[in-house]
Amino acid sequence: MIPPIASTFVAGETPAEALDHARRLNDRDVGAILNLLGEHYDAPGPAAADRDAYRDLVEDIAGAGGDVCISVKPSQVGLDVGEETFRENLSAVVDHAAERDVFVWVDMEDHTTTDATLAAYEDLAREHDGGVGVCLQANLERTREDVARLADVPGKVRLVKGAYDEPSEVAYTDKARVNEAYRELLELAFERYDGGVAVGSHDPEMIEYATELHDEHGTDFEIQMLMGVREDAQYDLAADHEVWQYVPYGDRWLSYFYRRVAERKENLLFAARAVLTG
Ligand code: FAD
Repeated sequence: MIPPIASTFVAGETPAEALDHARRLNDRDVGAILNLLGEHYDAPGPAAADRDAYRDLVEDIAGAGGDVCISVKPSQVGLDVGEETFRENLSAVVDHAAERDVFVWVDMEDHTTTDATLAAYEDLAREHDGGVGVCLQANLERTREDVARLADVPGKVRLVKGAYDEPSEVAYTDKARVNEAYRELLELAFERYDGGVAVGSHDPEMIEYATELHDEHGTDFEIQMLMGVREDAQYDLAADHEVWQYVPYGDRWLSYFYRRVAERKENLLFAARAVLTG
């Protein structure tokens, strides 16, 4: 069982608990992006197991209805095993989801995986004429080109600042420069994209800027935030915007919880306060 301190950031260990959480979010006009925790499998077995778990989850989502989609990590469905395994497993998930009208996001991992992830995404998005989205990271220097190139692909793009420590040969390592890059990428995406842009950030300044760009260009956008981070803001923003919460679940919750705390020490305090105040 997940201890109360971690349950601020993780919905539970089972799909049923994740779907219960999704239902509660939907009741407050927030969509749910379900992510089964798991990554960096170096053998085909666990990657196939998570592929199958996602296919089962898609069945459950289609049966339950509501604003619920999924988000898959490339190394969770076989990228560390090999590109072919990754592509087969991801296609199996996306094909299954497309038949049931469930949207699939593809998370982005470190820069060594970007080419393989974008190639798989692009093929699937074209094959299904949308129904799939990919994450792009503002800290990578290449991302401006990727945003421009993907404008003609019929899927969606989630812009984030980037969660991985990347070398200075390929990435901006200064926080202010990453913020500047994020703004520039928002501008480019709002100018070029007609399928919508997902703003994957908790940063009030970036959300405000996206709102201004929407007013200027008319481009649709959605706001995506993590479970347990600025949740009150998520509910407030949902009054005027499309808001989705990224909801991790599964039994591999410990390392995810540590990552949230390592990223921002206040998260530990925040989680402890949530436990104490019930
Ligand atoms: P930060 O620069 O961390 O914070 C900016 C401001 O936001 C802060 O000053 C504060 O005002 C507010 N804020 C941030 N955190 C908190 C908090 N805990 N409590 C209160 N206020 C806070 N990264 C990847 O590399 N690949 C992915 O596939 C990926 N997917 C993601 C999906 C979603 C839905 C989200 C939200 C993030 C994802 N990320 C991903 C992580 C992302 O790259 C960032 O590491 C993470 O979102 C932190 O950056 P930030 O934009 O929220 O702003």
